[in-house]
Amino acid sequence: MKVLVINCGSSSLKYQLIDSETEKALATGLCERIGIDGRLTHKTESGEKIVLEDALPNHEVAIKNVIKALTDYKAIESLDEIGAVGHRVVHGGEKFNHSVVITPEVKKAIEECNDLAPLHNPANLIGIDACEHILPGVPMVAVFDTAFHQTMPKEAYLYGIPHEYYDKYKVRRYGFHGTSHSYVSGRAIELGGLDPKNSKIIVCHLGNGASITAVKNGESVDTSMGLTPLEGLIMGTRSGDLDPAILEFISKKENLSLEEITNILNKKSGVLGMSGVSSDFRDLEDAEAAGNERAAEALKVYGYRVSKYVGSYIAAMNGVDAVVFTAGLGENDKNIRNTVASHLGFLGVELDQELNAKRGQELIISKPESKVKVMVIPTNEELAICRETVALV
Ligand code: AMP
Repeated sequence: MKVLVINCGSSSLKYQLIDSETEKALATGLCERIGIDGRLTHKTESGEKIVLEDALPNHEVAIKNVIKALTDYKAIESLDEIGAVGHRVVHGGEKFNHSVVITPEVKKAIEECNDLAPLHNPANLIGIDACEHILPGVPMVAVFDTAFHQTMPKEAYLYGIPHEYYDKYKVRRYGFHGTSHSYVSGRAIELGGLDPKNSKIIVCHLGNGASITAVKNGESVDTSMGLTPLEGLIMGTRSGDLDPAILEFISKKENLSLEEITNILNKKSGVLGMSGVSSDFRDLEDAEAAGNERAAEALKVYGYRVSKYVGSYIAAMNGVDAVVFTAGLGENDKNIRNTVASHLGFLGVELDQELNAKRGQELIISKPESKVKVMVIPTNEELAICRETVALV
């Protein structure tokens, strides 16, 4: 079956057409600047890249143009070949602990989670509506970023605030990147020959957004992102954990509203805000090499925070079999892997530096005698969404 995987943002839409039998991507692409002007970048299976500058006034036109690109560039002959659509949906609240076939009731339930992800869920719903109009009768599945973490126990998801906020508004830790954490921990079990029912894995998803998950016996038992993706690690532009009293302090000093400060914490903080250089780790490493002290400091604080989380999850699970790195930085940057490994020396962790220098391959990078396996596993959220979709339709 050919499955169209859609990841819809407010002004962008990423897609992949995957053949579920071969699990190969037949085409990938990105619509940008939807509602502004519009650009569609389409990549064929052979890697040819086509940029189309047609206007994309809304998501429906974007999806129409995606289907046109898929047929024009021969990923499919006609629209009938699309057997199902898998949608990435960011927040499923407590309602969804697994993927579901989309029905009017499911859409209503996703809408009820809009409060929890006001930037993402409405955009996801727009993408679903647009696909329903253009591909009537094609089954659609929602795959939630939060679902994998619904196995977390209460001690991991409750905050130390009055219980009424949980009762009234469901304020709690949800966690994100669930599709990635689930896919990567599953692959780690296979790669490391671990027992799915008796394993302790820590997945470090380090991309522009970053989160860490403790996966015990195949289930998420704790994760670093919270009610929103702002909590936890320092990220490209997000602050991660901080003393909540800092908000009032800065608000008074700088005469800023809570909304303005939250925006700063989401978009102008992290390694970007700390360094004043960039949110991209390649730029930071170049700046560090050129003697930029703030860039060096940001990288150091970043690595320390990741290591501290890994340590806390070893305690949460009372042990660890494997620490796994994934996403842009986790897959490509040997330095962050070395930093974390150096903090785990007390556990007998040792990296094979030749293997650690490789990029973007599925590999065990620890030495054979290392008591804890360290791995790099490129994430593939689209394939995970495709698999979930096929399983449900
Ligand atoms: P993602 O969100 O998973 O696409 O990851 C994007 C981030 O990965 C970028 O902001 C970069 O900081 C980081 N990244 C990608 N490639 C490399 C690389 N070769 N070395 C260091 N960092 C990288």
